[in-house]
Amino acid sequence: MCSLFISDLHLHPRRPELTQALHDFCQQQVEPQSKLFILGDLFEAWLGDDLGLAMYAEVVALLARQTQQGTQIYFISGNRDFLVGEAFSRTTGVTLLPEAYQLQMGQDRILLLHGDTLCTDDTDYQKFRQQVRQPQWQIEFLAQPADVRIAIANQYRQQSQSLTAQKLESIMDVSEAEVLCQLQQHDCNVLIHGHTHRPKVHCYNTTKDILQRIVLGDWDKHFYYLKWPDEGAWQLLKQTI
Ligand code: MN
Repeated sequence: MCSLFISDLHLHPRRPELTQALHDFCQQQVEPQSKLFILGDLFEAWLGDDLGLAMYAEVVALLARQTQQGTQIYFISGNRDFLVGEAFSRTTGVTLLPEAYQLQMGQDRILLLHGDTLCTDDTDYQKFRQQVRQPQWQIEFLAQPADVRIAIANQYRQQSQSLTAQKLESIMDVSEAEVLCQLQQHDCNVLIHGHTHRPKVHCYNTTKDILQRIVLGDWDKHFYYLKWPDEGAWQLLKQTI
């Protein structure tokens, strides 16, 4: 059997072809015995389970069908869907994981992250992240009526877009020092993450070990997935949508 890893689908009702691609991916690649790890930004926006479950009813039904067939699906939230909560988990059967999760695959010790915590050079974003990940901020935000939440989210997005336009590409990428630091902290030799939309495999030779960082790609004209069989080598695969 095998484990599959995807991230940054950025599903949205305005992009039905992406939901269709997830549907096809599930049919072609995901077996009842598979494990599917979704490493954040599954949704373009998730402003609370009440809104999200209605807005993404088709995706929710698809995930629920898949878990009912026996597939174990795990989810680490991204910067766009960090408000995915218990009602989502109950409705879909998807297991919510903490923001950093360790996994053993054969000889490899793997660290799973969305990837935004690695972008430590982007100090504006890290400040914002710290604020919105506080339980108290989330309780207050989720207590607002839907239209207020949508307005606040739009405002944040506009601010972030105008800030992003002024930032260097390098600031928006991960800090390599932070990558090595987190791998060491979690005692892992492989890191799998998304977020940056820069699919690639990076290798680091340290005195102790050869470390690998596998970056998943975002779903747009193509989709990316990492396939890791229980026996054998992993592959980072790309398919046209
Ligand atoms: Mn992201």
